[in-house]
Amino acid sequence: MSFQYKETEMFAEDCAVTDLAKKHGTPLFIYSKAAITANWEQFAKHWPAPNKLCYAVKANSNLAVLNLLARLGAGFDIVSGGELARVLAAGGKAADVVFSGVGKSHDEIAYALDQGIGCFNVESAAELERIQEIAASKGVTAPVSLRVNPDVDAQTHPYIATGLKANKFGIAMSEARDVFRRAAQLPNLNVCGADCHIGSQILTPQPFLDAAERMFTLVSDLRQEGIQITHLDMGGGFGIPYQHEDKLEVGNYLQTLQQKAAELGNLKLMLEPGRSIVGNAGIMVTKVEYYKPGSEKNFLLVDAGMNDLLRPALYNAYHAIQPVVRHDGVDEQLVDVVGPVCETGDFFGHARHLAAQEGDLLAVMNAGAYGFTMASNYNTRPRAAEVMVHGDSATLIREREPLESLWQGEHILGESV
Ligand SMILES: *Cc1c(COP(=O)(O)O)cnc(C)c1O
Repeated sequence: MSFQYKETEMFAEDCAVTDLAKKHGTPLFIYSKAAITANWEQFAKHWPAPNKLCYAVKANSNLAVLNLLARLGAGFDIVSGGELARVLAAGGKAADVVFSGVGKSHDEIAYALDQGIGCFNVESAAELERIQEIAASKGVTAPVSLRVNPDVDAQTHPYIATGLKANKFGIAMSEARDVFRRAAQLPNLNVCGADCHIGSQILTPQPFLDAAERMFTLVSDLRQEGIQITHLDMGGGFGIPYQHEDKLEVGNYLQTLQQKAAELGNLKLMLEPGRSIVGNAGIMVTKVEYYKPGSEKNFLLVDAGMNDLLRPALYNAYHAIQPVVRHDGVDEQLVDVVGPVCETGDFFGHARHLAAQEGDLLAVMNAGAYGFTMASNYNTRPRAAEVMVHGDSATLIREREPLESLWQGEHILGESV
């Protein structure tokens, strides 16, 4: 929506993408402030206080993105101590943060307690004991929610399905009641919530509704036992169209959750959207280095690689690829768009129709979520720059990494070794 052609040129809001690429180089991530804000409002308008939205930081954790969302009233869902530090650096408050993740270390738990974390989303019985021990040693009470695995099939890519019995995430529904009973007995824990997160890139409401059904039943049962659950966090996972999929409308689902909560009474609801807030709010711009025709396939070799945007290599994910300047009248070729990294998995698209030549710019669409945050320095490639546009102005929100920084902190052996 915020990336559109004006005549033959692609604009990010009111900034010409060509100009941004000229100024900041490629590969370049460009995010639209208006798009992030509009995506946020799609949820916020259906979600009155005291219900809360905790943006899932791992989708895009740039300080400018976090700061924008904090100003819009976001809480945050984190999966590491590093993400908590980022949220705090961006102006977020620890009290508005929930801490998910299956493998929280001792140090991460201690750090989160010291900062005054809003809630731990606990993923195992062992983690519960660990949090109790650390909270006791500090003489504090830790707010906890138990992440339950509701065993629903989210019908998404197996690498991003998290709510099945066979996944490593959460506590099995069959054990959940016992673990809640145990938690309620531990003196330094305040068992205030239940949560789940069934997977990512889910495009139909049914898996969410199935999970909600099971979670509300659980909350109701626990309350009957005297375990006073005051919030239910239904996680994230809302899909976005990457190709021709229908858009998932969240409004009805959010209303349904609130009706169910009203029936139980005194239950604050939470959600943890990530991708749906930033996914379509970003593009990755890359330059064509070579056109390489072949006997079986033609390749467009571009200056971005799987280290910049991993989703195609990791999940075989589809991203639309569009020319930044349309050359109407030039014949399109059938091409594979591939990067320079020494891996066959280093591709952005197979069998695409594009009319592009050496030096042309391409936009890889819907790259705002799980793009930069998954980037690496594989092949000693500096990570890309990031820009946020707002109307006709643009702010460099992350500088391109200087090459020397890539071996900062490395040491060669002394001559006597
Ligand atoms: C990744 C994650 C999210 C966000 O998922 P999206 O598909 O980006 O909405 C929310 N909650 C938890 C616990 C996560 O791990």
